[in-house]
Amino acid sequence: MPGLTLENVTKQFGSFTAVDKVDLSVPHGTFVCLLGPSGCGKTTLMRMIAGLDLPTSGGIRLDGADITQVPTHKRDLGMVFQSLALFPHLTVGENIAYSLRIRGIGKEEQRKRVDELLSMIHLQGFGDRPVGKLSGGQRQRVAIARALAISPRLFLLDEPLSALDAKLREAMQVELRQLQQQLGITTIVVTHDQREAMTMADTVVVMNGGRIRQAAPPVDIYRRPADAFVADFIGSTNLVDFTVDSAGRVVVLGTTVEGLAAPTGVASGVLSVRPEDLELTAPGNGALAGVVTFLRDLGGTVETFVEVGGRQLVAVSMPHARPDVTVGQPVGVRLRPEACVVLKS
Ligand code: ATP
Repeated sequence: MPGLTLENVTKQFGSFTAVDKVDLSVPHGTFVCLLGPSGCGKTTLMRMIAGLDLPTSGGIRLDGADITQVPTHKRDLGMVFQSLALFPHLTVGENIAYSLRIRGIGKEEQRKRVDELLSMIHLQGFGDRPVGKLSGGQRQRVAIARALAISPRLFLLDEPLSALDAKLREAMQVELRQLQQQLGITTIVVTHDQREAMTMADTVVVMNGGRIRQAAPPVDIYRRPADAFVADFIGSTNLVDFTVDSAGRVVVLGTTVEGLAAPTGVASGVLSVRPEDLELTAPGNGALAGVVTFLRDLGGTVETFVEVGGRQLVAVSMPHARPDVTVGQPVGVRLRPEACVVLKS
């Protein structure tokens, strides 16, 4: 279980609190993504883990040892930061071997390790190439190999794939995750891309305003968001206010949701329902009464926008299950009760 532990970590810049009392445990060998909107404090948190910034208060432990004040070069880290470019005058092999060379590791061992890493990143035979002759994706793989050369205890990456085009980025996400699993290395990645986080992480840490809003496995974050911010930030969702009737049933936009009871003591709040959990039916029979306002056919999915009591809801379906509706048509909307998440308002 040892790995990285953050205890009550806070970072203030003057009177501004960028990271606010963060507690986080990253067990050895797991992959964590720090995810959140711009300015939420992810990079500041990462910089403190890396030792590039000191916390204003709180502590950081790595495998049980307090590293809060330990300088970066003594933390045994591998880092791939956006700003940490490859050395342009060195070859691929020399870049990867760099940290081995400055640690005084022998030539033969350097060569063995470089070959091992080149094979891991699928660039066998590229050792003698100048890095300037590589594609963006290849350069990023070399940066990853260079960071891993010393077999670090902790692997930190800040937006490592953001400069790559969408297709390559998706492929690299899978590669990075496979590499991490192969090595069993404790890894933390900063990203603002939720799909990237969902692809790679064992635990997604959603931050906002310097605080952790939820830390959980990707599917739990999606299916059981802790609050309306997380529900809205991860994927798309329909957020609607609800009240509770005298029988304890949830009432949304004037209609009772059959089969959905509110937790004891909750009188009102917000319901989160994913677009794939809205079902369009004929009006009546206890469904919410709505009118279709827009259809968006994205090829792989079809989105139907429906106005219900002045609120816009979105339902998504696969093309083969495309609802047979047109704009202006009255429809019924059913919320799948088992998929509704009751949130505090
Ligand atoms: P982005 O995705 O845009 O990089 P982020 O979540 O990584 O955002 P941070 O870079 O951690 O956010 O910044 C968090 C907040 O702290 C921001 O409001 C930023 O302006 C502020 N901040 C960061 N570094 C400093 C600094 N050195 N001095 C003052 N304020 C800072």
